[in-house]
Amino acid sequence: AVTGAGRGIGAAIAQELARRGFEVACLVRGDAPAAPAGAPGRIARIGCDIRDPQAVADALAAADALPGGLKGIVNNAGVQQDGAARDFPLAAFEAMLATNVIGTFSVAQQGYPLLRARGGGLIVNIGSMWDKMGVRRYAAYCASKAAVAALGRCLAAEWARDGIRVLTVAPGYVDTPMTHDALEDERVRAFLKSRVPMGRAASAEEVARLVASLYGEDIAMFTGDTLYIDGGHGIGQ
Ligand code: NDP
Repeated sequence: AVTGAGRGIGAAIAQELARRGFEVACLVRGDAPAAPAGAPGRIARIGCDIRDPQAVADALAAADALPGGLKGIVNNAGVQQDGAARDFPLAAFEAMLATNVIGTFSVAQQGYPLLRARGGGLIVNIGSMWDKMGVRRYAAYCASKAAVAALGRCLAAEWARDGIRVLTVAPGYVDTPMTHDALEDERVRAFLKSRVPMGRAASAEEVARLVASLYGEDIAMFTGDTLYIDGGHGIGQ
């Protein structure tokens, strides 16, 4: 199951998993992406707002009822809003936490008994390279993504004996509807060229290939970690 799979990174993950033969349940508020032509896996749409616990329970039950049952969850749905910290509205801060942190936790929590009943599985939460950085105007978003990485570590520790692994995939700049306008800005492109060793933003497909590859191998000892996919941006120079 992939949350927020209607566009951007989530849609690319759903399509890459289908390309690799997985049956993918897209938990979306709008449309789900189509499976790529010739893909051996299928994509199903299940309506879900991850801020609504009952909707999450119903959606995960529906995903578990698909052929093969629930084997993994990609917590991708997320929102971003910037603004100066000095007058950032608390309601906006709470809304970001409600989706990025509580929503992610709710999906994992409600997925837990279903995965456990099937002998375990893999939860991948989409964090951010900014989880450890100080970024002007992004205090709320950075705090929410630091919390996602913390959730991953704690759930991995708590659920390891149930055969459930939890990993965080933390992208740097990725060209998606969330960031496209900013990435069109010449100054942002110049910044990426000078500061990112790879010199550019990632594509959603690159992030999707990393996430899908994690489902390709069942490595029991690999859990709790955060994997950065940022073209080397976070390692500094
Ligand atoms: P987009 O804005 O393109 O897509 C986000 C998706 O999340 C949308 O499909 C949206 O659905 C869905 N969503 C938001 N809130 C909810 C909700 N309450 N319930 C269900 N679905 C919801 O963003 P990206 O693809 O860029 O981002 C995906 C993830 O990657 C996010 O967690 C983001 O923080 C993270 N990320 C992105 C980076 C980037 O540079 N793009 C960098 C690092 C991390 P709807 O269409 O209904 O609004």
